[in-house]
Amino acid sequence: IASVETKPESTVIKVRDLVIGGGTVGVIAGPCSVESEEQVMETARQVKAAGAKGLRGGAFKPRTSPYSFQGMKEEGLKLLAAAREETGLAIVTEVMTPHHVELVAAYTDVLQIGARNMQNYHLLQAVGEVRKPILLKRGASASMDEFLLAAEYILDQGNQEVALCERGIRTFETHTRFTLPLASVPYLKARTHLPIVIDPSHGTGVASLVTPMCRAAVAAGADGLIIEVHPDPKNAASDGAQSLTPEVFAAAMEQCRKVANAL
Ligand code: PEP
Ligand code: MN
Repeated sequence: IASVETKPESTVIKVRDLVIGGGTVGVIAGPCSVESEEQVMETARQVKAAGAKGLRGGAFKPRTSPYSFQGMKEEGLKLLAAAREETGLAIVTEVMTPHHVELVAAYTDVLQIGARNMQNYHLLQAVGEVRKPILLKRGASASMDEFLLAAEYILDQGNQEVALCERGIRTFETHTRFTLPLASVPYLKARTHLPIVIDPSHGTGVASLVTPMCRAAVAAGADGLIIEVHPDPKNAASDGAQSLTPEVFAAAMEQCRKVANAL
């Protein structure tokens, strides 16, 4: 169902003012984790002012260590909904288990499936029954075929609004957290009608590399960007090293607009 042979027209995802695809680069920005009302509200206001149309923020966090911050859970979902109330930004947040799909869907506009859950088939089927867009992240060790078949699990349940998110893969390299293959954009576009979103934050793990990869993703034809932004990256509860300050994010947006209009 994901193939261009089945459906040659590109799928465009539209929710509130967030448009992913069809010539529009949808930008989703916000903290890795929701940490407090002040943090979410301040970030939401600033990313909106810079041009983002979506607000990201994790309330249920898939942390490598069970002793790391696990997220604010439903309290975090409520803060995201309050930020939407004030700013109008579309909310993007992760759902980790089929048991939470109903709860998370009640608060969010887009459900994110994290890299660690790309092959959690019961979760994919559960979000396939929801009538809200899904941001499906590529597993860090998943092949393109596995990635597309994971999307197929969602589509097969009747949910046609799936965006594919390249967030970097595991390689032998250690200079970046993951290796971000931007060739995924043109490669996937030749195979699927689904829109492609790039996550340069997890893709590099290094804040100073994020802006150049945003520009490159736009140049490569990405339909969307998802970028971690935190008002105080040094004290972030998760992923501070790859988080942009709101000021640096605003400058990145400005540069991306120049790339988009370069020709
Ligand atoms: C995230 O978006 O904060 C996240 C956990 O991403 P990923 O699933 O790509 O690691
Ligand atoms: Mn993160």
